[in-house]
Formats: sequence, C-alpha cells, structure tokens
Amino acid sequence: MSTERRFGRVLIANRGEIALRIQRACRQLGLETVAVYSEADADSRHVHEADIALCIGAPAASRSYLDPEGLLLAARMTGATAIHPGYGFLSENADFADAVEAAGLTFVGPTGDSIRMMGDKITAKRTMQAAGVPCVPGSDGSLPAATDEILALAETVGFPVIVKASGGGGGRGMRVVHHATDLAEAVALTAKEAQQAFGNPTLYLERFMQKPRHIEIQVLCDTHGNALWLGARDCSLQRRHQKILEEAPAPGIDPATIAEIGERCAEACRRIGYRGAGTFEFLYEDGVFAFIEMNTRVQVEHPVTEQITDIDIVAEQLRIAQGEPLRVRQEDIAFRGHAIECRLNAEDAFTFLPSPGTVTRWDLPGGPGIRIDTHVVAGYTIQPYYDSLIGKIISYGATREEAIARLRVALAEMNVEGVSTNIRLHEDLLADPHIQEGGMDIHFLERWLEERT
Ligand code: ADP
Repeated sequence: MSTERRFGRVLIANRGEIALRIQRACRQLGLETVAVYSEADADSRHVHEADIALCIGAPAASRSYLDPEGLLLAARMTGATAIHPGYGFLSENADFADAVEAAGLTFVGPTGDSIRMMGDKITAKRTMQAAGVPCVPGSDGSLPAATDEILALAETVGFPVIVKASGGGGGRGMRVVHHATDLAEAVALTAKEAQQAFGNPTLYLERFMQKPRHIEIQVLCDTHGNALWLGARDCSLQRRHQKILEEAPAPGIDPATIAEIGERCAEACRRIGYRGAGTFEFLYEDGVFAFIEMNTRVQVEHPVTEQITDIDIVAEQLRIAQGEPLRVRQEDIAFRGHAIECRLNAEDAFTFLPSPGTVTRWDLPGGPGIRIDTHVVAGYTIQPYYDSLIGKIISYGATREEAIARLRVALAEMNVEGVSTNIRLHEDLLADPHIQEGGMDIHFLERWLEERT
C-alpha cells in the first residue's frame, strides 16, 4: 500500500475548469495527461492541451463522464496508470473507485470502503462521533419503525427537527418538521422520496439548527498514517444548497477553536485510515461545531485554502496517490491573509435561468492577488448538458478588506458577452454591508434575494 509508484500517465475523468486544474497539477509534477471528453466537449481547453485526448461518448453525462466501463477502456487504450475523478460525476462512487483499483490502476482519492462509509450518512456520523468529532444531536442511527417511537425520539431531540435520508446527497432527501403533528407524514414522504431517488429508504433525524453557518475543514492524509488539517472555509452563502461564494479563513471564528476542531478531524482520519484530500462539513451556531457530512474528493472551493496556505491541494492528491509521504508537518502550516472565491455561472444573475451559448467576448481581470480558474475562452460554446459553472475568480489579500476590494475591482473589469452570467449578483453581494462584515448564516442569501424582489 505505502510503496511509492510514479504514475506515467494520469487520466482525468472530468471536464471544465477542474479538468484543466488537474491537468496543470499533473504537468507541474511531470506527469502526462489523458483527457477524455464527450462529443459536446471536443473543443475544450483541457482537450487541446492534453498529451492524449479521447472521445468517450455522447453529450449526456450518463453516456460519457458517468460511464465507468468507457473510462476504464479509455485508460487501457491510452496506457494511463491512474484516474483522477475531480468533483461531481464518479468522484464519490465507491464502486467506481473499486473498479479502478481492480483493473490495476490507481484511483486518485480514498479507498472504495472510505467513500462507501461516508456516502452512508448514518455510518459517517457514527464513525465521526466515535472518533471524537462533534455531531448534530439526533437519532443515533436509523429511525425506528413505530410512529410513537419516532415521535418520542423527536421530542427528546427537540423540535424543529430535520428528517434526512441516510443515502441522500445534493441537498435532496431531507425535510424540516416544526410540529409533532406533522412528523409521521414527513417521515413517510421522505422515506418514499429517498427510496425513489437513492434506492434506500433509511432515514435518520437531527435537531434543525436555525441560523447556522456552513464551515468546513480541509484535510490531507497520506498512506503512511499522517493527516493534516488545512484550516477552515466559510461557505455559508448558498442558494438551494448550492454554494456561490466561499472564503478562508472563516471570519470571526477564533483560530484556536478552528485548530481544535481541525485536529479532531485529522485524528478521525488517522483512526479510519483515510487517504487523500477530504472535507469535513460542519454547521456552526452559537460557538458550537456540529458535523453533518464528509466529502471524499477535491471541492470546487479548494483554491481559497490553497491561497492562504500556499499548498497545492491537487498536486498533493497526486503525490499521496503515488505513495509519497506528506512533506509538511502541521506545525509548518501557516495561515496567511484572506481569500475569497466567486463562482461564475452562465445563468441570469437574478432569475438563475441557465444561459448556454457561445461566449463572444471574455475579458479577464488581473493584478495582484487575483487568480482565475476557468476553461472558457472567447468563442467557447457553453453546453446545456452540464452544470453552469464557467469559472472562479479567487482574490487574495493581506486582510479580508483587501481581498474584497481586489475582488470588486476584478468583477468590474470582467467583460463577458454572448451569455448571461452572475457577475452582477457577486458585485451586489460584495457591496452589501452585512457581507462586508462577514459571518452570515446559511439562510442569508435567500433572505437577501427575497428582499430585492
Ligand atoms: P447533502 O449531502 O444533500 O448536501 P447535508 O447533510 O450536507 O446534505 O445537508 C445539506 C444542507 O442542508 C446543509 O448545508 C444545511 O444547509 C442543511 N441542513 C442539513 N442538516 C441540517 C440541520 N441539522 N440543521 C439545519 N440545517 C441543516
């Protein structure tokens, strides 16, 4: 397990900005890259820049980026020895991770067993609780069958409660219940939906936190038993559970508190033998952290952590997968300055309607502290088949104020024609005094949007 093996070629099983991001990390490490693409993505930047590129199927993701056999065949045909899944698509599919390893290749990520454990939220919570990570109070395990027992449980936890599907994801399969009289029906409905959406009707229940912030801890773990935490990100600005703007560090939270929770996360990773990059997601309210789930992949918002730690998370994923020990110790990691990321989407800034089409003008900002991660160039056609993320503007400053000032200048400089974008939304958000102050809860953005209309 822990012997070092250098990859020859890495197949990147993804598209868009993250495919390009992974390609850059590979090239910096001297590794060749294989780009795979659907028929809709033939004219993509990561395809043009790859050492080898292979079309793997039709535009629909189910017939290309979500097709495990097609990806394994592409790896065999191109002599790739490792597969980096990026985020989304098959990145948290335990069976795919197992199939990659069974084919004699390296999956750049945790083992299938770790992914499976974290994909089942009841098991994930139990595991984390046992490892000393604080969790949201709730049912310890799945809900009992009898209605009166569920009610008794909910009353012990205290209303309002949130009923959640153990196999849930993507913000689906959960329901908030304010009154005891609504509980039985909510449980029945959520179980039915969970069965339909995830093939697993198992439910659990948690106290519903009213005004929490979403704070997450980035970890990196090697195959030699070392685990590091890379500080916290605040991702509270969300609409329909989709993050829109993220920052690091989390404003207003004492570094000592972050260090304590970070160390618990790292210790939990050591205990379960976790490998690779991962994120512990917490709700944070009244000074208390409560674990909700772990993501076993690189995240869209990883750059803000990279900017304040100067650690290349994707390169580290590749080094770890090659069996290398982590090169830094926890005490060597310094958190400097402040970073903020705006997710740029091809969508109307206020109706959020997707806006696919050809980008006729694409003028990017620059200057000190500005990083742009994007696959888009002028003339590129944004396809309707995939998510609407077209890039990320990441600003860095010595202070949060400086990061905001730089970001506002960058957004004003950005000039896009041909499709609608949410740049205006970001400009308005960053002009808001509450956001300038920091520390919004997860419902802030939806309230803010409602007040505008
Ligand atoms: P998913 O895997 O579907 O993203 P999560 O468990 O991460 O599910 O929850 C998604 C979102 O739902 C959270 O970011 C938060 O906004 C809300 N949520 C989940 N659990 C709770 C809770 N106990 N109290 C309040 N809000 C919650």
